[in-house]
Amino acid sequence: MNSPVRAFAAVGGTPRFIASAKGAYLTDVDGNDYVDLICSWGPMLLGHAHPEVLAAVQRAAQGGTSFGAPTLAEVELAAEIIDRTAVEQVRLVNSGTEATMSVIRLARGATGRNKIIKFAGCYHGHVDALLAAAGSGVATLALPGTPGVTAATTADTIVLPYNNRTAVREAFQRYGDEVAAVITEAAPGNMGVIEPGTEDGIGFNAFLRDLAHDHGALLILDEVMTGFRVSRSGQYGRDGVAGDLVTFGKVMGGGFPAAAFGGRADLMAHLAPVGGVYQAGTLSGNPVASAAGLATLRLAIDDVYARIDQTAELLQAEISAALTAAGVPHVINAAGNLFSVFLFGEGGSAVTDYAGAQGQSTKAYAAFFHAMLDRGVYLPPSGYEAWFLSTAHDEEALGRIVAALPAAAKAAAEEL
Ligand SMILES: *Cc1c(COP(=O)(O)O)cnc(C)c1O
Repeated sequence: MNSPVRAFAAVGGTPRFIASAKGAYLTDVDGNDYVDLICSWGPMLLGHAHPEVLAAVQRAAQGGTSFGAPTLAEVELAAEIIDRTAVEQVRLVNSGTEATMSVIRLARGATGRNKIIKFAGCYHGHVDALLAAAGSGVATLALPGTPGVTAATTADTIVLPYNNRTAVREAFQRYGDEVAAVITEAAPGNMGVIEPGTEDGIGFNAFLRDLAHDHGALLILDEVMTGFRVSRSGQYGRDGVAGDLVTFGKVMGGGFPAAAFGGRADLMAHLAPVGGVYQAGTLSGNPVASAAGLATLRLAIDDVYARIDQTAELLQAEISAALTAAGVPHVINAAGNLFSVFLFGEGGSAVTDYAGAQGQSTKAYAAFFHAMLDRGVYLPPSGYEAWFLSTAHDEEALGRIVAALPAAAKAAAEEL
């Protein structure tokens, strides 16, 4: 197991080993197939083994797989990212973790300040300084922080409850001139999906931007999950809030290890070789990964998002109907086409932060998960994860999901 959430630790049972995938389906080494609602945790926006993406990968690979010198492909990928988002310049890296790690170094280097504000339940990859009350894998395994991260490493990290404006105001009052940046998932998807809340007509991201700027700090939007998935640009396309710095990953790699960070040109100018903040990578901007990412983004036109949005809405309605029929209290949270399903033992009101997400019944979710798996539907193996769709999720795939729901809802009800 090379990444903990794949281990089924939160739901029990034996992980399936995948032999191949095509469109909306995974096939395991025993020959069983599953409708895939993980899509590699986001990247496979167009479904698995998309012929045009594969053709681009093959063309690129035939020309050599890594040069350690600049290529046109990486410039084209960066240009595509800039065209779709508010960032002015882009640096390519190999994983979302590397993007957030680098962007924090850049924010500290550019501001000359040390402290970073993050939110409980927001996951920004396994960056040491940000593994403080992180969500996703860590939340699932119920580890508070993680052994191996020193207190000194997290001493400059301030962890606050998500959507809590009072807490953010207080933190800025106390540490204002020491804060380099606030980092937040543009719309959280790693404690289950949670929408940035709106108060007095102002969204949470806009609130963070304005407060950060009032104190000479930067806003870093982590769009690794949302970028190029919830809209042509990402959460930026939904609320219009541009981060001073932004991280991307997942979809933009087209199923290969590629990620990026970018933002205002004056901030990016602090990066080596132009500026003094060091950042580098042997495989950064890899030509095969860049070709896969570029092919994926060029195919990800507005119709793609309209279609996936529609599929997501339809599916949420079916899930909710099945759970209601079985008497399972639940909350389905969505941020565009990203959504997640919280099952509750009792009540179950709105989930707006990590503490709210922790009220879910992991036992009920485990039963729900396995009943779906037995019927050929592969859900995220944890109630703290987002569900991902693709353009390949057609009527047939949806039909299989919908057919499996009543039995899964009943299995969940028996655990409450
Ligand atoms: C997945 C994810 C990351 C980490 O990306 P990796 O490529 O797994 O290192 C960072 N931030 C967010 C919001 C993510 O969803």
